[in-house]
Amino acid sequence: MASCFLSLGGNIGDVAQTFRLVFSELDLHTNIQVVSRSRIHQTIAVGEHAGPPFLNAAAHVDTSLDPESLLDLLQSIEAAHGRKREIHWRPRTLDLDLLLYGDDVISNDRLTVPHPALWYRRFVLDPLVEIAEDILHPQQQMSISELRNQLLQRPLPVTLLGDESRTDEIAVSLNASFPDIHVTTGTPPDTRSAIIFRWSSDKADGEMIRQLHPFRTIDLMDVDNPKPFAHTVVRAALGV
Ligand code: AMP
Repeated sequence: MASCFLSLGGNIGDVAQTFRLVFSELDLHTNIQVVSRSRIHQTIAVGEHAGPPFLNAAAHVDTSLDPESLLDLLQSIEAAHGRKREIHWRPRTLDLDLLLYGDDVISNDRLTVPHPALWYRRFVLDPLVEIAEDILHPQQQMSISELRNQLLQRPLPVTLLGDESRTDEIAVSLNASFPDIHVTTGTPPDTRSAIIFRWSSDKADGEMIRQLHPFRTIDLMDVDNPKPFAHTVVRAALGV
């Protein structure tokens, strides 16, 4: 049996009712037992085209399914509730993510576990902390409540490292949009830094940055639109 944590989100239709159906569908499955679930939270929609406010929740399940079979099941439940997968950051009836699968660290074509965005999203951590306060993130070696507390700092310390020509412009735009953050560039992040963005065209330099805080670093190099992406991350971290 693996002890797993899931997140639920949606902003189309009667989402609270959809969540209730999902909880009972999961619990009815022979290989799954729902141990606990969070309250349902209303959160702002993050992303340019995300639409009306979201409802989010988290669930603790015990399962004898392997991680890929659990993902298959989550995707079949999403599909049954009308989820269309094509468009990212758009309104959706139901989004189910596998946040933690015991202490497993998984990285393959279909699955990244722990969920790579778990640690910087208030809309994931706020419900999750209700049912997983003391559970350790296997890579960060911090509990869920410690991860969330990092995001409660005000001003929120954000660090940008890499090519100054790029990071300076993003720092200016983040500072202009978010009065509640404190952005530093160029200097090594201190231990309080909640989010470290990396944008370095120099491979060795970039690798050095990643090794400083491997699980608290977000790459901007490979992202299509780095500035809006950085804004989306910070908005999710602040929960505003
Ligand atoms: P999204 O549209 O944001 O729900 O992303 C779904 C895609 O993310 C699917 O193609 C999954 O294979 C992939 N994926 C990778 N890791 C996870 C995870 N931990 N939980 C759910 N989906 C995941």
